[in-house]
Amino acid sequence: MRTSGYTNSPLVDITELSPNHTLGRTCIRGFVVHVTVSVGTVLAVLLWLARTIAQSSYNYVVGRGQVGLCVDERNRAWASSNRECDMNTLSIGVNNSSASHPYPISDQDYNKLIDLLVDCCERNNIMALAFAGDNANFRLQWSRGNMMLHKWFAAKACPGQYLIDRMARICDEVNGRLKARMFVTRLYSGALNRAPDASGLDYWLTQLRNGATGSAVARGFITSREFVQRNLSNADYVEALYRAMLGRVSDSAGKAYWISLLNRGAERLTVLDGFLTSREFISICADHGIRNKQ
Ligand SMILES: [Zn+2]
Repeated sequence: MRTSGYTNSPLVDITELSPNHTLGRTCIRGFVVHVTVSVGTVLAVLLWLARTIAQSSYNYVVGRGQVGLCVDERNRAWASSNRECDMNTLSIGVNNSSASHPYPISDQDYNKLIDLLVDCCERNNIMALAFAGDNANFRLQWSRGNMMLHKWFAAKACPGQYLIDRMARICDEVNGRLKARMFVTRLYSGALNRAPDASGLDYWLTQLRNGATGSAVARGFITSREFVQRNLSNADYVEALYRAMLGRVSDSAGKAYWISLLNRGAERLTVLDGFLTSREFISICADHGIRNKQ
């Protein structure tokens, strides 16, 4: 959850800031996804929301695969008919593919919405999304969930049955992506001692999405030129494997065991395989929703 130092999404294609907002907010701890009940372009929605007569706004608008910025994340949009909700959430208005019940959205915009939610969670330190079901008693119950529905605060259908039926799946998809990022980010810090670069992170996440196993990705880091060029001692190599594969510092007995194997001539990749086939690594893969059949 972010409470200061706000940024905006790098996914934004069009910016048309609306005067319909309040300066500042409490924090960013969740989201309200709206439908715009409009089948037009993002720009058309932004231009409407830029008029004071509209008296409403979202932080972001998604349509035809594009993202529009309407209100900076650091400010409160006028979106959910509830001050406290708007002060604690980012609001995203998604254009419809048909402006009537159940207010469907296109697959292209569904995927763009997922991308935007993942990015907003990442930048705002939101570890996971949770939707406990369409129950107005859950409004502002942050311990129950952080995906609020506009209809809980006003006599509206928003976001419509199409999105409500998919809200739990949206959370699952976003959470899966967030966990995969955590897994890869840890390989960067443990093996390469640095934060991921955007194109490298994207490469490994695509590999995982396309079915690469956790072991294959981990092996890719340890056999990379960048890692090999670190030219680590046996002790530092083992410590890097603990950090990268298991996300923790070594225990002394375990570390001594692996170092003694190396000092007696074992290959480094044999030691790596010892980590990759450990119960601890296998359970980390399972926890992160990552395949790990050898
Ligand atoms: Zn709404």
